[in-house]
Amino acid sequence: MKHGPSSESAIPTVTGFSPGFAALGLEAPLLATLEMLGYEEPTPIQREAIPPLLAGRDLLGQAATGTGKTAAFALPMLQRIGHASRVSPSALVLVPTRELAIQVGEAAQRYGKELRVSVLPVYGGQAIGPQLHALKRGVDVIVATPGRALDHIRRGTLKLKEVKFVVLDEADEMLDMGFADDLDAILAGTPKAKQTALFSATIPQRIRAIAHRHLQDPIEITIAKEPVKAGTAPRVQQTAYIVARPHRAAALARVIDVAGANSALVFCRTRLEVDEVTAMLTGRGHRAEAIHGGMNQGQRDRVMQAFKAGQTELLVATDVAARGLDIPQVSHVINYDLPSSAEVYVHRIGRTGRAGREGAAITILDPREQRLLRTIEQHTKARVTVRPIPSVADLRAKQLDRVQAAVEQVLGDGSLDAFKHLVERISAHPPAEVAAAALKLLVRARGGERQEQEIPVIPVGQPEFGRPIRDARHSSGRVHSGSAGADRPPTGRTRQGGRAVEMARVYIGAGREAGIRPGDLVGAIAHEAKLNSNVIGAIEIEQRFSIVAVPASMASGIIEVLGRARIKGRRVPVRLFRE
Ligand code: AMP
Repeated sequence: MKHGPSSESAIPTVTGFSPGFAALGLEAPLLATLEMLGYEEPTPIQREAIPPLLAGRDLLGQAATGTGKTAAFALPMLQRIGHASRVSPSALVLVPTRELAIQVGEAAQRYGKELRVSVLPVYGGQAIGPQLHALKRGVDVIVATPGRALDHIRRGTLKLKEVKFVVLDEADEMLDMGFADDLDAILAGTPKAKQTALFSATIPQRIRAIAHRHLQDPIEITIAKEPVKAGTAPRVQQTAYIVARPHRAAALARVIDVAGANSALVFCRTRLEVDEVTAMLTGRGHRAEAIHGGMNQGQRDRVMQAFKAGQTELLVATDVAARGLDIPQVSHVINYDLPSSAEVYVHRIGRTGRAGREGAAITILDPREQRLLRTIEQHTKARVTVRPIPSVADLRAKQLDRVQAAVEQVLGDGSLDAFKHLVERISAHPPAEVAAAALKLLVRARGGERQEQEIPVIPVGQPEFGRPIRDARHSSGRVHSGSAGADRPPTGRTRQGGRAVEMARVYIGAGREAGIRPGDLVGAIAHEAKLNSNVIGAIEIEQRFSIVAVPASMASGIIEVLGRARIKGRRVPVRLFRE
């Protein structure tokens, strides 16, 4: 997919709406919202999907998480239902997991703020009472997992007779989770004259079959498959750290501190993020400055001069702002967000490792975005090494290494007479003690004594890490996460980068008889324990109980919160499982 020429060069200004979004046909209220969110230009999938969806076409889109696909369907959906007469619900978005229902629901709410659109996430594991109440009151958009949507349809509390817009998001995951029949049943109750968009990271035959059954003359969009031209991808060391969303900012600070980046470009997707990240880094004692399209030319020039003169260590930028700039060679390019396409990624990392010098590209990414990383590897024909996020001990060790190197350099340079006199003045203490105290002061001055929190390591199953839980309903009840055919043992270890993660098994006193499905358990753990579903290992669902493998370090916390929570509406015993 190519970038439109109009938005390549123009840097949107503080006053005008992004010309890129306006050109796609979006109207003022949505443009104002995007401006407020700090989106500077549409991503490739948005550029391709928004115009046909606004024109009322059905759409089959191949796009992974991280490409901006939520806005690609949500913006046109909101504009179209805003124009139509209000019914409840006007739009239905089906997603595979509770986590996504919440995430997509929040995104739709955010995008629909100016249009005053009401959004209700509906998922299993959540108490049904408030859902019934909200459905009765009426909502514009429902974002639901298929199982719970069907529950409501059967109870007569969700009526889809007048729905105008349906989205099947992450359709391949929904099929993997065994929702094919549920999807057919749900869609059977919707009117024929509606608009449907189906998004899937891959489009195998079974997705085509669903599209064939439910989409009418769909426009099909795919992110271009052409690899980046040989030789254009810069040869730099590329590393990625997979971190759950709530820990992203801490992870950025950690990798910058560990890398000792002294002239780095930090890329963010939005203006808002640029400002937040700059404030966070400045607060930690870094010399960081922001550059984005919301700044005027004078401000941008001043920031660039300071960066070129070495007064600023970290330049935090959006792609649009960085595109037109003559940025000098930098030691590190850090992607706070994975860019929405391989082309943008290559463009970003091209700022380091120039003219035979060493360079490093570091990417922080959400577990759900791992697929996009793969796409980037395929496109660039270069390996991106996934590493566990450095621990506090790693950071401390790195800081001491750096102090040692700095001291050795000063020792090599000589000219220490004045300081030797100082040591003599403190001669009541042994010289080694004096040196240690001086080093402590140095470490403190460099922020090395700051309180740091451990960032949870996300276990990554190989080789197809990040894949969802597979369908259990028609099998023996035993399901596994991990790739098709590459089932993991229910306990033991999984690996992230080089770090093995010890797994434990948690017993949950509800099983098939209580209608438990893998999604309910994943959802409950992810939501109640505020964890990403990727930390969850194999799931076994038996008649009366279930067993879920989780990282041993998180087991007691998970047991505690699940013990207090409701699963499928009721309290169930939860404890550590022993053979
Ligand atoms: P998604 O692929 O829908 O999960 O979106 C990934 C992330 O990109 C989300 O955090 C969005 O807020 C962000 N995003 C989506 N579209 C844009 C855009 N045009 N500019 C900047 N950020 C965006």
